[in-house]
Amino acid sequence: MNVSVVKETAPGERRVALVPEAVAKLRTAGLEVLVESGAGDGAWFTDDSYAEAGASVVRRADALAADVVLMVGRPDAATVSALRSGQAIVGLLSPLTDPDLTSSLAAAGVTAISMDMIPRTLPRAQPMDALSSQANIAGYKAALVAATEFGRFFPLLITAAGTARPARVLVLGVGVAGLQAIGTARRLGALVSAYDVRPETRTEAESVGATFIELSSVGPAGGEGGYARALTDDERMAQQQELAAHIARHDVVITTAQVPGRRPPLLVTDDALKAMAAGSVIVDMGASALGGNVVGSVPGQTIVTEHGVTIVGAGALPASMPAAASAMYARNVSALLLYLVKDGELALDPADELQAGVIVTAGGAVVHPALREQEAPTPVLPEEDEPTPVQPEERADRP
Ligand code: NAD
Repeated sequence: MNVSVVKETAPGERRVALVPEAVAKLRTAGLEVLVESGAGDGAWFTDDSYAEAGASVVRRADALAADVVLMVGRPDAATVSALRSGQAIVGLLSPLTDPDLTSSLAAAGVTAISMDMIPRTLPRAQPMDALSSQANIAGYKAALVAATEFGRFFPLLITAAGTARPARVLVLGVGVAGLQAIGTARRLGALVSAYDVRPETRTEAESVGATFIELSSVGPAGGEGGYARALTDDERMAQQQELAAHIARHDVVITTAQVPGRRPPLLVTDDALKAMAAGSVIVDMGASALGGNVVGSVPGQTIVTEHGVTIVGAGALPASMPAAASAMYARNVSALLLYLVKDGELALDPADELQAGVIVTAGGAVVHPALREQEAPTPVLPEEDEPTPVQPEERADRP
């Protein structure tokens, strides 16, 4: 059986699904590895380094003909149309928010295996947990981006020219990314507060040095599988209102809140933005085409509101640390692949809980229970009506 790595096609995506170290591991397990020429360029892994690890460096068309095609993100339309029945693809396919892609892969007879559907609580799935590996990177980078954008110091500094007070940082959403953002901001010397709707996050946030904020207007909102549930309209409005006062007394806000299969919850409203001091910075890790945690945030852009608040639309931070992100993703994808391969061939077993979690399409059909349950393929539920965006002043000089 051969597996291939293709060059990512999404704009700004610099990660690659396998790094040379992982190629060597897969070859030891008896797999032939093909790498599209230039696939690792964005993460500084050269064609030569893949060849030295035992991969064949090939043209895209040859890579797309492999038995198993590995990628980081989702295949674009041209890639899907190049695939044939019987092939498998592995990537962060976001099937819950992209049902059209899932349907087209099923129609093409392609077995789609989605790295973001790994049942994360299964101990044997830990090495395959790409959501966590990438969220760790994103949380770390979010704190660095915030510190770079902030026009003051993060730490307390006492110098001959005066004393700088430490920055007050608020992290909204204390999952994997939030915890890493807290730890990184703390290591930079900031005073960090944190908030989440899941009650268990209090001790987790405190263990990495944050002061936990509890809202009196919103009760616990843990959902299935350790994730948060979507709030009701009343809860959401109460949360936004009460949060606004906390947001206003912080210099920096990093938002990471997500609810699987839904657009990210809106946590920072127009009113909250207006109450922030000029010079404050928000890094919105939820920023995406679906909308973000912050009103008016634009994915991939840094904007400044008319009140002088900088909002960084930072939904794709792992791609900004491509070498580390690729190395971690490669370990995740290799672990999954080796789990699925028996005697050098893909041996899929839908009775296995882990496999049932990740296999989205097989045999020409959508097989994942979470997707089959949805009769009409419209799983992305809006958080609420689109709020009026602030009037941004675009800053083309920022990432
Ligand atoms: P996520 O990316 O889905 O969400 C990020 C955070 O946003 C979550 O903590 C969530 O509670 C929070 N959130 C959602 N709506 C919110 C709202 N309206 N207001 C405030 N916060 C809100 O989460 P994640 O980082 O992927 O992790 C989710 C959970 O899964 C965590 O408990 C994590 O520890 C757990 N997890 C477990 C394992 C494991 O068991 N091995 C592995 C990875 C993650």
